[in-house]
Amino acid sequence: MTKKKPENSALNVQKGIEQPSQVNPALSGGLEKFRKQKPSVEEYAESILKGDRTMLSRAITLIESVRPEDKTTGRELINKCLPHSGKSVRIGITGIPGAGKSTFIEAFGIYLIEQGHKVAVLAIDPTSQRSKGSILGDKTRMESLSAHPHAFIRPSATSGTLGGVARATREAVILCEAAGFDMIIIETVGVGQSETAVAQIVDFFLLLMIAGAGDELQGIKRGIMEMADLVVINKADGDNLKKAELARKEYENALHLFPPLPSGWTSKVLTASALYAKGLDEILEVIRQYVDLARQNGWFEKNRQGQSLKILHDAITIAQSLSDSFYHNPEIKKLIPKTEKQIIAGKQSPYEAAQILLEKYFEIIKGR
Ligand code: GDP
Repeated sequence: MTKKKPENSALNVQKGIEQPSQVNPALSGGLEKFRKQKPSVEEYAESILKGDRTMLSRAITLIESVRPEDKTTGRELINKCLPHSGKSVRIGITGIPGAGKSTFIEAFGIYLIEQGHKVAVLAIDPTSQRSKGSILGDKTRMESLSAHPHAFIRPSATSGTLGGVARATREAVILCEAAGFDMIIIETVGVGQSETAVAQIVDFFLLLMIAGAGDELQGIKRGIMEMADLVVINKADGDNLKKAELARKEYENALHLFPPLPSGWTSKVLTASALYAKGLDEILEVIRQYVDLARQNGWFEKNRQGQSLKILHDAITIAQSLSDSFYHNPEIKKLIPKTEKQIIAGKQSPYEAAQILLEKYFEIIKGR
């Protein structure tokens, strides 16, 4: 017990005299504390709703995180932002490497901003680590767009499965919309499975192609062509102009052979030059026509609702089959009663225990 000091002692802090604050928090180790301090859900939400891009970026990092405590905060944040989301047009852009996606997105993004929009660019590319950051990985891409205060560019999450990256991207869309971005562009490379994931997020699908690159469909799978609401033949400039026009006609003919889109929309083919910012107005016009039609016939809402429900049921199926496999694993079966005892005895947190068990399970699976 400490001895009570006499009230008139000079060692007592006088009432009404406040302790001065530490000028340099580093002196008391406070800087470290300050750095580690994470914003609360309310702080995140408030800043995002004000359009704070730094906090938006931090929030996306949060939702990409696999740490259990971040997941809880992330989930709460998404719930807070959901009522403020949805008021954008979500545009998927795909095309093979070299088709001109980043040049196009930069030019189109700037054009959209000039038309009064706020543009967010996200990416789905779970392969980017392998392909040395082919997509949005390299910071020199889209320099002038990224510097614009009405733009927000976020590289693809590079770790995790396609499902994980797609989920983070979908949640990033919600956060960007809450931050006031009304045109969301989601970029992906048109060679993998990621287009199907993008199709589950976007309202409008734009396929960027180039003329005369050998194979008529340039390795773009028929399925991707079928999903396209708009095909843009890029690099329609200089010597390439005629070839691009020819390709436009060819694609127009090819698209006629595809089954009609459920939206009631007839796919269009346009030419453009991302490098010289040509044809961008027509592209925006087509997107506007599509949105008008889809809003009028109810497809816009129906499609978004269908996307959400599909995600719900996919997630349940994955969770269910994962937990079946987990609980039927013989080694895990042995570990569970031991873990339960530890938890009952108050020796381990249930969250931590669950994490350890899951890690153990994945180790077993990997080692098979
Ligand atoms: P990505 O891999 O699809 O993102 O393609 P990039 O945007 O990096 O473009 C690949 C190359 O094509 C670059 O050298 C660009 O300068 C060039 N490029 C892109 N768009 C155009 C265009 O409209 N016209 C011409 N002539 N070149 C272009």
